[in-house]
Amino acid sequence: MALRLGFDIDGVLADFRTAFRLAAEECFKREIDEAADPMPPSEIKRVWAHIARSSNWWMTLRPHEPQEIARLYSLSRAGHWEIFFITNRPASGGDAVQFQTQWWLEQQGFYLPSVLTCPGSRGDLANALRLDLVVDDQLVNCAEIVGASAAKAILMLRPDEHDEKLARTAVDRGIGVVSSLADTLPVLGRVHDLLSSRRGRLLRLSDWFFTKPHETLPDNPRTSRPLEQ
Ligand SMILES: [Mg+2]
Repeated sequence: MALRLGFDIDGVLADFRTAFRLAAEECFKREIDEAADPMPPSEIKRVWAHIARSSNWWMTLRPHEPQEIARLYSLSRAGHWEIFFITNRPASGGDAVQFQTQWWLEQQGFYLPSVLTCPGSRGDLANALRLDLVVDDQLVNCAEIVGASAAKAILMLRPDEHDEKLARTAVDRGIGVVSSLADTLPVLGRVHDLLSSRRGRLLRLSDWFFTKPHETLPDNPRTSRPLEQ
């Protein structure tokens, strides 16, 4: 059976934080520095209202790693993986959120994407879809997924949001932690290889998750110095 994967969009593929800050700056006509001066809930609400009025706002987001989305597409085609993009984005003006997200993914080189708009529990969805693995940037979603389904979860903590305590909590729950999509793709390949031989068997985190491959010598081994003992 082909690998079945779930991908969250905002924070994993799309740079939502930057787009939200730019929308806030457009809204209030001033520079916004969320780290130094966080917006109060009333202002955040006004930004969301601004987004709700903006036509096809979800199409304007920048990808975090543009080439990696196209690479994910190629890997999914080659491996016969089935990928579901999952989001609970609220509506903006213009087209439906699902259509905007499909269009955006195609612009990044992922053709014919299956986008699921999911206002409810991601754990229930992962279970219903019999997903093997889900990538999400929210620990609460990852925890819900591993709690309610047999799917494995990977938490994406991008370098500017890295929190050692959060990462430790995730690993303690059997959730892998990555800092980029580029780091995630080799892990997917490993899960693909493992599940083809061990589907149905319980896998521990150490069985399927590591981000750094074993080191090997370069193509011309004579350019390398001997390993230190
Ligand atoms: Mg997200």
